[in-house]
Amino acid sequence: MKDADKIKYFQSNILLWYGQFGRKFYWREGTLTEYEYIIVEILLQRTKAETVDKFLHDFIGKFPDWRTLAHAELLEIQLAIKPIGLQVQRSKRLKELALEMQKRNYVLPHDRIELESIPFLGQYIANAVELFIFHKTKPLLDVNMARVLERYFGPRKKADLRYDPYLQDLAKRIVNHPHAKEINWAVLDFAALICKARVPSHCECPLRKECLYFNNMEIVVT
Ligand code: SF4
Repeated sequence: MKDADKIKYFQSNILLWYGQFGRKFYWREGTLTEYEYIIVEILLQRTKAETVDKFLHDFIGKFPDWRTLAHAELLEIQLAIKPIGLQVQRSKRLKELALEMQKRNYVLPHDRIELESIPFLGQYIANAVELFIFHKTKPLLDVNMARVLERYFGPRKKADLRYDPYLQDLAKRIVNHPHAKEINWAVLDFAALICKARVPSHCECPLRKECLYFNNMEIVVT
């Protein structure tokens, strides 16, 4: 199958799968404020989406915007984050980010280089901001999306996915679709539920016919 056809096959099958098995989270249901979108992405780092989903209302209730967060005591933020862990590191990040936003009059820059230079945003959250807030077709490329793409299409060349041109280009091509948001969510859910790191569920996978990893697996007969 040609590259372009393999991408189309991936997109259509993963969207079909997502329609049936995709997870429902608060941040996927309606429209969030810019602040809420960024808070969600920060909380999702190293934490299960299901945990963040249960916790988010409490946090947003206590700190509904950048202004409140910028004026809050560090300890207050730390205590609020405690139920989901990593509170010391996360509270510092959130506080510094809120203070940075205060300096910028609570307005996010549209310029990509400036956006990525904001402390604690980085490539992934800058992509999320462009995808959800500025409505651009950007990939939420993390280790989970990388795993699915590498298994299906073939491995990257560099260790750090942020600097791997092959993986970056592939991720952009995958989400280059009128339903870019849904494709991103579909890949993340698929990575969590089917193409898992340790034991992928190949038998339930709608992509296996074209998956490089699956088709190169040695079948061991005992
Ligand atoms: S066939 Fe297996 S390795 Fe390939 S995408 Fe599906 S679950 Fe992942």
